[in-house]
Formats: sequence, structure tokens, C-alpha cells
Amino acid sequence: MAYIALYRKWRPQTFKDLVGQEHISRTLANAITSGHIGHAYLFAGPRGTGKTSTAKILAKALNCEHGPTPDPCGKCEQCRKITEGSSMDVFEIDAASNRGIDEIRDLRETVKFAPVDGRYKVYIIDEVHMLTTEAFNALLKTLEEPPAHVVFILATTEAHKVPPTIQSRCQRYDFKRITVGEIESRLRYIAKEMKMEAEDEALSMIAIQADGGMRDALSILDQCAALADGTITAERVRQILGLVGHDWIYKMTKALAARNVQDVLQILAELLRDGKDLKQVLSELSLHLRSLMIFQATGTVEAMDLYAEPQDVLQEQSKLFDAAVLPRMIARLHEAMTEMKWSPQPRITVEVALMELCRPELASQGEREEQPAGQVQQAVARNPADEARIAKLEAALAEVTALLKQATAGAGRVQPASAAPAASMPSTVPPAMSAAAPAAAAVAEEPASVDEAGLQVWNKLFQALRDQHKAPILACIQNARFMGLTASQFHMRMQSGLMASLVMRNYRKTIERILQELTGRELRLVCSGEDAPMRTPPRPRPAAVPKPEPKREMAAKKPEPAAILEEVAPDERASLKKAFDVFGANVVGVDGMAMVDVPQEDAPIPDDGADIYGDGAIPLPEDSDVPLPTEEDE
Ligand SMILES: [Zn+2]
Repeated sequence: MAYIALYRKWRPQTFKDLVGQEHISRTLANAITSGHIGHAYLFAGPRGTGKTSTAKILAKALNCEHGPTPDPCGKCEQCRKITEGSSMDVFEIDAASNRGIDEIRDLRETVKFAPVDGRYKVYIIDEVHMLTTEAFNALLKTLEEPPAHVVFILATTEAHKVPPTIQSRCQRYDFKRITVGEIESRLRYIAKEMKMEAEDEALSMIAIQADGGMRDALSILDQCAALADGTITAERVRQILGLVGHDWIYKMTKALAARNVQDVLQILAELLRDGKDLKQVLSELSLHLRSLMIFQATGTVEAMDLYAEPQDVLQEQSKLFDAAVLPRMIARLHEAMTEMKWSPQPRITVEVALMELCRPELASQGEREEQPAGQVQQAVARNPADEARIAKLEAALAEVTALLKQATAGAGRVQPASAAPAASMPSTVPPAMSAAAPAAAAVAEEPASVDEAGLQVWNKLFQALRDQHKAPILACIQNARFMGLTASQFHMRMQSGLMASLVMRNYRKTIERILQELTGRELRLVCSGEDAPMRTPPRPRPAAVPKPEPKREMAAKKPEPAAILEEVAPDERASLKKAFDVFGANVVGVDGMAMVDVPQEDAPIPDDGADIYGDGAIPLPEDSDVPLPTEEDE
């Protein structure tokens, strides 16, 4: 039984299908109608906004047997081949996978030959900012004098990293984030077409969580459809995504406004007992405070993609805070989210932050440091009532912190992180320290690297998932990259932090069970999100990583996760293969300078520790997992 992921099935096939990018589809359609076809396009914009889809539609528009036409038929041989990725005239190059050196060299050779059976040769270069300087130079030569039958489409999430010389030769199109409303209506349309029953609130919740990316939205809908029996309800979505929910957040906000430390901590404890994720609590709380802040300032939250609170709640709760206080509270929450990643005891970090929010005049770390002590004293001295209250709160804070520390130290299982000695966990090394002392990082846990044995396990995992008919899991991880295998951990990287958290929440146990069956040892799944910020300490270079020669050899022998790849569209296939090809070239944060000077071999080791779930950095709802009818009964 072929299971086709929703986002693949509903990939836009014509300009009209593109959601939220009307400005682009209109301009491109006009250009084709009027025959003003450029030789180079730069598609810039966030992930999941339709850049690659648009590139393929443009390729079809140019090469359709009934064209060039703004409405490619989708049925002729050309259109079909382009959709399948087998056209001899449309080349898709993924610059992220090997930084393009060979491809661009080939490209310079082949670009001058006429198209095989279409009108145009179309080169789609994805993540073009990852190309090496040499590759860019080679590309530039071609862009300077492009043959008449060639169209380049360069796609990037980081346009500022594309050299100006290249940019100046391209027509640039900026893809915008898709709004919650646009995503929601597309979800509603697809749900209807697929005959899925779904509550409006559920779809709206998915749209908000997808954060501007249609692909994530459809992946989440896919998961919800697989895990919900019957109607997709808001409650189900909340469970599947581990959302905290409005009522809890409103309650906590009220307690914060009342400066009731005890209530705040109790609400947090209840949420954790229910299996909610600390990070999620902070993130929803800060979204709600943001809504209050905007409502305070403007009196409305219309047309802002917000947390979807009813007007009366905003009205009531925005009165509880001074205008100056909310931004500081939000800043403090964001600090706490960052601190959590390094904290050996994230729960305490969060509790301290929440307690500080109960006295927001001191909440922001930044301001505390900048403000001389005298000023604080002065400000406080003006109001003796406040002074007394603050003194009391400070005493309470110290007491609770001490108690919590004691409790966590005594009972190792309160925080998963405390189970392992702090020194052996890379995620506990503060960024500043490891940057200054690479030696400190070197003693961190053995680095995960992609090797033959690991790849075999990765392939077998896919096979096992297929054998056991775990279609939802396959749909979820088919775009994941294998990042390595250590004695005790299995690393993979998802397209986004949200998807990583979804895998960890709903499928970790199944995946870990299969890994144990495959390898005979207990492996902990470590799943990171691709869009995670670069905050992790650099990893030591694995001593055993061979130089290019052996690397190529490995690539040549790379095994394919066969069946799943057959269903995967070629452009997605590339990202799956990416992990197999070049582990070391998967650089996330190379800036313009580094790109100029750093030869490929010396590229920084990819960061795969940012935002690790399940590594103790963020406690998992391990024991209190919301029982989902997920893994065993599909
Ligand atoms: Zn056609």
C-alpha cells in the first residue's frame, strides 16, 4: 500500500495553486504570457513557502508541450517528467549536500548543449547560498553569458549570503511567510477533499503551529489524521503536538499578574505532571503575553498572526499589566528558553524565571546588568510597600530554589538530565566556555558520525517501519537526515524543531524499540530540528573522519532506503540522500567570509546539538506520556 504524504500529494502544480505568493505567481505568469522570460531568477524566502514548488511550476510552464504557458497542462510528457523529476532538461542541484563543486563544473560543460526534448534547459539550484566560492565563480561565468535556451532558478533561505555579483544578474522574487489564515483555508480545503472530519479550531491550531510553512502544516495534519480516529478535534491536536492550551496559560497569566508565586509554581507543576513540555509552556506563555502587549498598544490583534485568544480575554488580561512590563516579561521568558538548553536542571531554570516574572520590574537580565545597583535601590526606595514585597519574594525565591536543588539532587529521576554526569553532556557546556576552551568540548561525549554501520541501521530502521506498517512514522521521518550513531545514542535531524518535537513526543518509544531490535542495544533517540538556532558549542572533529577520498567511496556505496525513496519526489530525495553523501559538508552557518576562505575539508563540523530533544536538555514527558492510540494500534 503506497502511502503518500499529504504535502507531496498536495504540492502545488500550477501558479494558481500557490498559497500566499500571489505577487510572485502573477508576475511570473505575466512574464510567460508576454514572452519576457529571464535567464536567472533568485527565489528568496523562509522554508516551506513554496520556492521549490514554484521553480518546478516555472519549469513546466516553459517546457509544457502546450506552452510556454502560465497554465502548464500537467499531463503531457514534459509536464509529467518534470513532476516526477526525470526530465532530461530540468536539473535539480542541491547546493547544501555537497556545495555544488562537481555539479557546477558539469553544468558549465553541459549548459551549451541544446535541450533534449523541451524548449529550455532549466537549472534549479536549491540552497544556493551554500555553494563554494569556486562554484559561485563558475556559475557567475555562465550567468554572464547564458545561452538563450537556459533558465537558472536559484532558491535560498538566506539571500544575504548570495554574492552581490550573482544577485545582480538575477530577477529576485521574495517569498513571504504564509499567513495563518492562508494556511488554515488551504488545510480546510485539503481536509474536505480528503474527506477528513476536522474541527475549525483544530485546523487553526495547526496553522498557528506551522509558523508560516505550508509543508509543516500539512505534515502535522497528516500526523493528526493518522493518530486521531474519526474527527480531528482541537483536543487531539493539542495532545499530539503537546500544546499547553489556552486555559492553563490564562490561569498562569492571572497568577503572574497577582504576583502569586505559589500559584504560578503549582500551575507549572500540574502542567509537567500532565506531560507538558517546559519549552512549550514558556513559548505559549510568551505568545500570550505578546498578544496582550499588542492589544494594549493597538487595541486590536486583527490581522496579526497571534495565539488566537478571544477578545474578552485580551481585554481583561491586558489591563492587569503596565505597558512597560510586558516587553520585559517576554524578554525574560526568551532568556529562560535559551538558558534551558544549557541548564542541567531546566525545570529550576524555568521556575526561577517564572518567579522573577512575579516581580517584572527586575525581570530582564539585560537591564539588571546595565542598571547600577544604586538605581535599583532608588526605584525601590520610593515605594516602601514594594520594597517589603520584594524582600519577601526574594526570601521565598532563595528558599524554593534551595529546596528544589535539594530535591532534584536527592532524587535523580526528577530531571532526566541529572541522570548523567553533567561533564559528559555536550549540551551542558555553556557556549562561552566551550568557545574559549575547545579542550573542554573535547572531553564531551563521543561525537556522532555517519559511518557505514550507522547507515545500515538507518536503512534497516526504514525497512522495519515499512514491515510493521508504521506509515505515519515513515511520513514523519522520511525527510529526516541521519546524523550519526554513538554507543548509546541515535541522532537524526528533522526539517524543523516542531517536527522533531512531534517525533520525540509520539514516536520515540517505537523507534527506540526498533533500534534495540536492530542493534541489540539500548539506543536513545536524539532528534534535533533543522531550523534550530546555532547555539551549541562546537563539537570536536571526530578523529576517524576520513578526507574526501574515502568519503566519496562511502557515497558510492551508499545504500538506498529503497521503497520509501520511490515515493519521495526527487527534490526531497536529495535531502534524504544528503545525509548519506557528505556529513562534513552539511554546514549550517557559514558566513560570506568563511565561504571565501574555507576549503571544504575545513568547514566547521555541523552543529547537531542545538535544541536537542531527549538529551536531557528538555525534559520529556517520559513517564507521564499522554496515552495516545498511536504506536501500537495503527
Ligand atoms: Zn504540459
